[in-house]
Amino acid sequence: MNKADSERMAGILQSMGYQQASAELEADLVLYNTCTIRDNAEQKVYSYLGRQARRKRSNPHLKLVVAGCVAQQEGEALLRRVPELDLVMGPQHANRLELLLTQVDSGKQVVATDDNKILEDVTIPRRDSKICAWVNVIYGCNERCTYCVVPSVRGKEQSRQPEAIHMEMQGLAALGFREITLLGQNIDAYGRDLPGITAEGRRQNTLTDLLHHVHDVEGIERIRFATSHPRYFTDRLIEACAGLPKLCEHFHIPFQSGDNNVLKAMARGYTVERYRRIIDRIRELMPDAAISSDVIVAFPGETDDQFRQTLKLIEQVGFDQVNTAAYSPRPNTPAATWPNQLPEAVKVERLQELNALVENTARQRNARYDGRVEEVLAEGINPKDPDQLMGRTRSNRLTFFAAKGPEGCSYSPGDLVDVRIDSVRSFSLSGTPLR
Ligand code: SAH
Ligand code: SF4
Repeated sequence: MNKADSERMAGILQSMGYQQASAELEADLVLYNTCTIRDNAEQKVYSYLGRQARRKRSNPHLKLVVAGCVAQQEGEALLRRVPELDLVMGPQHANRLELLLTQVDSGKQVVATDDNKILEDVTIPRRDSKICAWVNVIYGCNERCTYCVVPSVRGKEQSRQPEAIHMEMQGLAALGFREITLLGQNIDAYGRDLPGITAEGRRQNTLTDLLHHVHDVEGIERIRFATSHPRYFTDRLIEACAGLPKLCEHFHIPFQSGDNNVLKAMARGYTVERYRRIIDRIRELMPDAAISSDVIVAFPGETDDQFRQTLKLIEQVGFDQVNTAAYSPRPNTPAATWPNQLPEAVKVERLQELNALVENTARQRNARYDGRVEEVLAEGINPKDPDQLMGRTRSNRLTFFAAKGPEGCSYSPGDLVDVRIDSVRSFSLSGTPLR
């Protein structure tokens, strides 16, 4: 999500005539797009800012901007902490960057953190990839997970109109993009704030409806979406994914904890049993689907037994990948005020044990690709070996292969290539192109 915001803001700067500087300490304008999901992400910003603030003291023309969730969370306080800043802007203001910079140019120090209706697509992002693009479909989050800072910094849910999403995807296809990842913090909530009930009394404009709606965009070969919330993940959605050829067999469904009491304390709104049923149903219809997830260890009050339930779930499900984190208390969240916080040593120990299991499971899951032929969408050159391309399988496995194929043919980014996998590691694959 942050990366998509960064690309939009970079697009605005480019349209204003800015060019990318050769180095962070050379630029005339520096914009940090920040994350506050955990404390260590937040702290990084302050160390970067320190260096730029010193530079500004000898170069008053330097413009310093902090965007994103730390900006939203800290607001005016950030100006007091770093008085050299010109602009502090929350994520809901990303599309307004040009206007805000105009205010800075007139000599003001600007803070833009009020609730904002996100402007519809006035921006053209400067995308890092020419093949794969992010497309926001819903901003914000209306959930109240007790550990999570997102609702307070990204605001209320705002779904984009299906037509606007369709148009953006058509535009991307015309530019040569082949793969789209639809984005939302809780993408299953898509459309809840849009009108529409069918004649049969069913809600329209659900994520499932959207997937059907955008599936016909010619030139787009692959569609993914993230992040899914187990509370709202429906059978109808799973059936749509199984039936729509462009939908990739990869699902990112965070479970956060394998213990029902911890899930309850987190206010996640589902049980481990429900989570298992979702995975079973996906595998019934798409036996080879890749499943990835997020998990938090050492949530306040988590016992050793409860932690072991998380390990058990990982073993039982056999995840392809899991993003892991030790619980980090966040401002304005209920769990941060609870007295039953766990000591740092427990966090470190549980995280280490978890990571070892996750790597092991990922390696075992990757082993199944050995010798298989997989369709890989070439995304670019391998930065470590210019004779190789890199891309992803439909199941989102990073895969490297020779840029030259049999009988002198060669491949370029954007090609869909059948690759025979001949080497598997925990987090990537290598293989030989077949045609
Ligand atoms: N909307 C997504 C996740 C958004 S945040 C969802 O509901 O799953 C991305 C991940 O960061 C979360 O899945 C969670 O695992 C982690 N996370 C969020 N808040 C955290 C906190 N306070 N401490 C540690 N990890 C956290
Ligand atoms: Fe945070 Fe929960 Fe919303 Fe995900 S669903 S962004 S974890 S509040």
